[in-house]
Amino acid sequence: MRGYYILAAFFGLFVANAVVIGGRVAYDVTVQIDSPWDTASPALALPLSLAGWLVVTGFAGAVAGYVVTEVTDNRTIGRMRGRSNARRIALIPLLDRLQYSRHGFEVPHYFGIRFVLRHQGDWKLAQDHWEIVVERFLNVGESDRGRGPRQAMWQAVLEASYVLDGMSGKCPVCEKLAGKDGNSGAHA
Ligand SMILES: [Zn+2]
Repeated sequence: MRGYYILAAFFGLFVANAVVIGGRVAYDVTVQIDSPWDTASPALALPLSLAGWLVVTGFAGAVAGYVVTEVTDNRTIGRMRGRSNARRIALIPLLDRLQYSRHGFEVPHYFGIRFVLRHQGDWKLAQDHWEIVVERFLNVGESDRGRGPRQAMWQAVLEASYVLDGMSGKCPVCEKLAGKDGNSGAHA
């Protein structure tokens, strides 16, 4: 029942913003494309931006949780790596490559370094977890026929990086592994 009130409040906020700053801008602020400070009414746009961020992060967290549960429960990681996917996995961009602007992929700013920092600066561990998540997104997108592996990888990197970025301060693979060992939330 409370969910409806939150949704109604969010909807009201969006409509108020759409009237004042325009529907297109209100949408861009909600999905974090535009800064609320750049709009005609920052006072109104700021709460919308925050609300949008919460909605997007909650959604992204749910997606990533689902993705990782699927990966580890099916125990497909080892098998996938040994088989035909090996060629494609080699194409997963290294996190340190994503640091630079000319990698050709679309990722959030400083995504690579920030994901590594979630692993106490352990590039190897972060790269491993990054590949697990990207692999999963690749497999999800596989039903989409007619796209080359390059296009599929670009899409998977885009989705994986933005979903991970939305889960501020967390790595779903770490969380999953920690949960399996029975200690909850000791990981920073
Ligand atoms: Zn991790």
